[in-house]
Amino acid sequence: MLDRSQDLERIALIEALNVMDPALGRSLDPITELAAFTFGTPIALISIVDADSQQFISRVGLALERTDRHHSICSCAIESSCILQISDLREDPRFRDNPIVTGPERMRFYAGAPLVTRSGIALGTLCLMDREPRELSANEQRQLQTLARIVVNQMELTMSVGRREPISGLPNRQQFQADLSVLSRRDGASRFTGVLLDVFDLQSANDAGQALGLKPVESLLRQAALRVQEVMSDDVQVYHVAATRFAFVLRDHSHDQVEALMGRLRERMRRPLMVGSIPMSPQFHAGVCDFHADPEEAGDLVRKCMVALNHALHADACVCWYSADRDAHLRRRYRLASDAARGLAQDQFSLVYQPRYDLSDDQPVSAEALLRWTHPMLGPISPGEFIPVLECTALMPQLSQWVIEHAFAQAARWQQQLPGFAMSINLSPRDFDNEQLWTGMAERLRMHGLAPTQIEVEITEGQWLHSHPAALPQLRAMAAAGVRIAIDDFGSGYSNFGYLSEVPISHIKVDQSLVTGLARSRTARLKVEAIIKLAHQLGYRTVAEGVEHEGELSLLRLWGCNEAQGYYLARPMSAEAVTQLVLAHRAGPPLEPDAD
Ligand code: C2E
Ligand code: MG
Ligand code: MG
Repeated sequence: MLDRSQDLERIALIEALNVMDPALGRSLDPITELAAFTFGTPIALISIVDADSQQFISRVGLALERTDRHHSICSCAIESSCILQISDLREDPRFRDNPIVTGPERMRFYAGAPLVTRSGIALGTLCLMDREPRELSANEQRQLQTLARIVVNQMELTMSVGRREPISGLPNRQQFQADLSVLSRRDGASRFTGVLLDVFDLQSANDAGQALGLKPVESLLRQAALRVQEVMSDDVQVYHVAATRFAFVLRDHSHDQVEALMGRLRERMRRPLMVGSIPMSPQFHAGVCDFHADPEEAGDLVRKCMVALNHALHADACVCWYSADRDAHLRRRYRLASDAARGLAQDQFSLVYQPRYDLSDDQPVSAEALLRWTHPMLGPISPGEFIPVLECTALMPQLSQWVIEHAFAQAARWQQQLPGFAMSINLSPRDFDNEQLWTGMAERLRMHGLAPTQIEVEITEGQWLHSHPAALPQLRAMAAAGVRIAIDDFGSGYSNFGYLSEVPISHIKVDQSLVTGLARSRTARLKVEAIIKLAHQLGYRTVAEGVEHEGELSLLRLWGCNEAQGYYLARPMSAEAVTQLVLAHRAGPPLEPDAD
C-alpha cells in the first residue's frame, strides 16, 4: 500500500497538473490508440488514480469512464516502479472477484505501466486489457514502458505551457501556486518561510525601457534572476512571479537565518548591473511570511508575502515580516472602499456641523460640514479614516456630491433662520478631476436659492494643485462667483505661501496640530504667530482649528487671529443644535465654553 503522505502528494499533483482536464485527455488519445494498435489489444486506457476512484482520461475499447478505487487494478500497478502484468485475472486471488472480471466485461488480461512524473510520483497507468488471457514479451513490456514515458512527457509538457516566465526561464506564479499546493499536502506538519523579493522598482524599469528599449531591461531582470539563484542553494526553487519579483520557499529556517540570508541576497543584488552601457543598481526589498504547509495557509501565502513586501517597500527596509495587524488594517481599508457605495445608497452617511467663531465679537459666523459614516457592522467610522481610502476610489466625487447637496440644503434653511450664517464644505483633490464640479455646484446653489457668498470651500494645502490642472480654473470660477476659498490644515505639511498666490484664497485655517497645546510648545507658538502675521500681510483672514483650551484662545486673540474653531468653543453637532446655539448667541451673552 502507498503510505498516506505519498498518496496525498500524488492527489495534490493531479490537481496541480490539472490532469483531469478533458483537453489533456484528448491530446493523449493518439498515444492510447497507438498502444492498442501496437499490442493488438481491444482495450487501452490511461487511468488516473485519485482519492476515491480511478478515471480513464483517455480510452480505446471501453465504455466505462471510471471505477471506484477499491476495484482498481491500476491502483496496485502504481505501487511498483515496473509493469504489473496479469496474464489471467481469474487466477490471481487479488482480482478474481473483481467486477470487471466477473461482470459483463469479463476481462482476463491486464498489463499496466505506471505513469511516473519527474518528481517520482505515479499518477496512474497506461494499461492494456483483453478479454482473452495473454502475455507480453519482455520486449513488449519495454515498449509499453516507453509509451508510458511519452504519456508523462506529454502531460508535463502540456501543463508547463503558461508555467514559465519567458524572460528568466524560471517557473512563474502559476507554477509557484501549484507547487505550494503540492507542498501543503505533502508536508502538513512542517514549518516553512515564504519569501517574495522585489529587485527593481517599476518606475525605473519603465524609465529605462522608454530610454533604452525593453531588451536591456529584460537583460537586467535575467541577470537579477541569476543572482538570486546563485545565492540560493540548489535545493531551493526560485520562481519569477511578477515583472520585477521573485519568490521561493525556505524550510526550517529560524528568523535570524532568514534575515542573514536576505542580507547576503541584498548585498549581492545591489552590486551594479549593466543596462545597455549604463551601470544600474537593482534595489532589494523582501517580504517574508512563516507558514504551515496546510492548504489554506499555502493558498494565502503569496498575498501575505505581498503585504510584507509592500511594508518593506514603504519603509525602504531590506526585509519585513508579515504582520497580521497590518494585514487587518489593509483589509479594513479594502472593506471600507468596497462597502461605501452601498453605504451611500442606504443612507449610512450623515453630516454634523462644527461652529466657527469670529474673535472680534465672539459670535458664531459659520459652521463646517463634517461627514460621518455609521457602518452597519463596523459602527461609526471617522472621516480621518474613510476619506483617505475613498479618495483613492472613483466614489469620492459621488460622495462629495452628496455632501454638497445636503450641506447646501441646510445652508438654505439657515439662510432663512440665521441670516448671514455661512456654511463651509471640505472638498478633496479628487473632486477637481470632475471638470463640471463648479457648474454642478452653481446649479445646486441656484436650486436652493443660495447666495454663493454663504458658502466656503475648504481645500487642503499641497502640491496636488499642480497635478490637477482642472483645479485652478474651477477655484477661480468659484471665487469669481463669490464663494470663499479656505486653505485647510495649513502648517501640517510642507507649508508654503509661495504657491498660494496662484489660488484665489480668502482664509487660511491653521492646522490643529499646531494650535492644540499651543500654550505648552514654544516652537508651535513661534510658528502660529508667524503664520498669522504673514497671512495677514498677504491679505488672508486666519482661522485657528483645534482650539481646546482657554490659553490657546488668549494667545490667538493676542496675535490677531480672526476666527477660531475647536472643542473649547463648540464640538461638531447636529444642524438643529447649531441653530439653537447661534440663536442663543445672537440673543444673549457671547462665547460660553463648550460643556464637554
Ligand atoms: P478638517 O476639515 O480639518 O476638520 C476638522 C477636524 O478636526 C474634524 O474632524 C473635527 O471634528 C476635528 N476637530 C475640531 N475641533 C477639534 C479640537 O478642538 N480638537 C481636536 N482634536 N479635533 C477637533 P473629523 O470630523 O474627524 O474630520 C477629519 C477630517 O476628515 C477633516 O479635517 C476633513 O479633512 C475630512 N473630512 C470631513 N468631512 C469631509 C467631507 O465632507 N469631505 C471631505 N473631502 N473631507 C472631509
Ligand atoms: Mg476642514
Ligand atoms: Mg483642518
